[in-house]
Amino acid sequence: MSHLSCEFDPSEDKIREECGVFGIFGIENAASLTALGLHALQHRGQEACGIAATDGIQFTTERHLGLVGDNFTGDDPSQRLAGHISIGHVRYSTAGQTVLRNVQPLFSELHTGGFALAHNGHITNAYTLRERLVKKGAIFQSTSDTEVVIHLIARAKKGEFIDRLVNAIRQVDGGYAFVGMTENMLIGARDRFGIRPLLIGRVGDSYVLASETCAFDMIDAEFIREVEAGEVVVINEDGIRSFTAFPNTEARPCIFEFVYFARPDSVVGGKSVYEVRKRMGERLAEETPADVDVIIPVPDSGVPAALGFAQKTGIPFELGIIRNHYVGRTFIQPTQQIRDMGVKLKHSANRSMIEGKRVLLVDDSIVRGTTSTKIIRMIKAAGAKEVHFRSASPPIKFADHYGIDMPTKDKLIAANYSLEEMTSMLEVDSLGFLSVEGLYWAMGEEYRKDEAPQYADHCFTGNYPTPLIDRDRKLLGKKQLSFLVEVA
Ligand code: AMP
Repeated sequence: MSHLSCEFDPSEDKIREECGVFGIFGIENAASLTALGLHALQHRGQEACGIAATDGIQFTTERHLGLVGDNFTGDDPSQRLAGHISIGHVRYSTAGQTVLRNVQPLFSELHTGGFALAHNGHITNAYTLRERLVKKGAIFQSTSDTEVVIHLIARAKKGEFIDRLVNAIRQVDGGYAFVGMTENMLIGARDRFGIRPLLIGRVGDSYVLASETCAFDMIDAEFIREVEAGEVVVINEDGIRSFTAFPNTEARPCIFEFVYFARPDSVVGGKSVYEVRKRMGERLAEETPADVDVIIPVPDSGVPAALGFAQKTGIPFELGIIRNHYVGRTFIQPTQQIRDMGVKLKHSANRSMIEGKRVLLVDDSIVRGTTSTKIIRMIKAAGAKEVHFRSASPPIKFADHYGIDMPTKDKLIAANYSLEEMTSMLEVDSLGFLSVEGLYWAMGEEYRKDEAPQYADHCFTGNYPTPLIDRDRKLLGKKQLSFLVEVA
């Protein structure tokens, strides 16, 4: 989910959210399993977390800033969050204006009963819908685009709860995975292209929904299937039912889940993320070879691709950079200046693996060029004879808009500079990127340049699967909502 007003820095015009969602139905202590599932999804969002649960009568929610492990361990969360149905959310965003009222799951009392909702993704017409709803008298409690969906459900004219939900979902555009619950059902929904992931699993007689398979592994749940693109699943006492919100759509899941976002031990679209990343490295070695003494991954995201590169070429692979795991991801800091410092806090050079050597650094991607610039300088300072850099994904030339934290085009280095220019800006002896064809090859697919692509690959190609209504109406970055500062 993302934010519509004060969270937005107009100068950055940046979608800030990356999230993970989890839900479970029909098990004692459901909230405890949700906490475990969220812990496995922590890489999808480290800024805030929340759990909602119901015993069929009462709803309880607990929402916090910070990590799951810091907030939901120690004692059994299900003692506070009682019930057999539970959903949860981890959220990533830059710090700054984060307020608790935006932390999910969001809960509302609808005339159909209580409803809690958690969302991963971004609704690309959220401002437009919100404008319309506010004019009709809707009162919003948060600045999150997720709340728009709740209002649309509340205002749906007729039908059972699920008809209203499907009706609401049909009005929203973008990339999203929703996990929601009422007092007697767990609901999962995925956008018409299946851009954001959502999977169904099972533990004993209970169904589980999660953003990634690593959350199933955490609680020993078995993976059943993915929620289809445009599908709404409803889980209750009678089992699982499926509704089609968007018929006849072709799935186009987000390719960036493979590049960076998903955990390497997850299986996305039936493919092991780790294996795909290794193949990216193998292909990279073929496409942009390097005459070097050692291959060093940028940890942790560059490790599988660097291994693939090393195994393909036979060049030694060494851990020449050591990562301090107690610092958040590079992107978590709000300003460029602090981001720069963040890289130093996070990585240090393992001098004995670098000194006097021709080094090849491999990372999964180059976004702004901040991480690579710092790391390259660090490796040079540690005495490398030559430094070469490879990105295991193609040049990122377009912003995401579907819930991957990414700056606007003007800040994407590859959108603004040629390979030669980037080589000299980064001060490397050589620079190389994987091709889009190579990325598809790594996923075991053929790149269909002139047809509808199999994946949402817009970051590399500019081929966006949906209209970007708010962006095209120039509503993004415009502060049009009032600014409530919560001090406690
Ligand atoms: P940059 O420093 O801006 O070039 O970003 C590249 C680094 O950030 C790489 O090490 C990536 O692993 C990592 N990265 C790529 N995409 C994202 C993202 N959406 N959120 C956080 N980190 C990212």
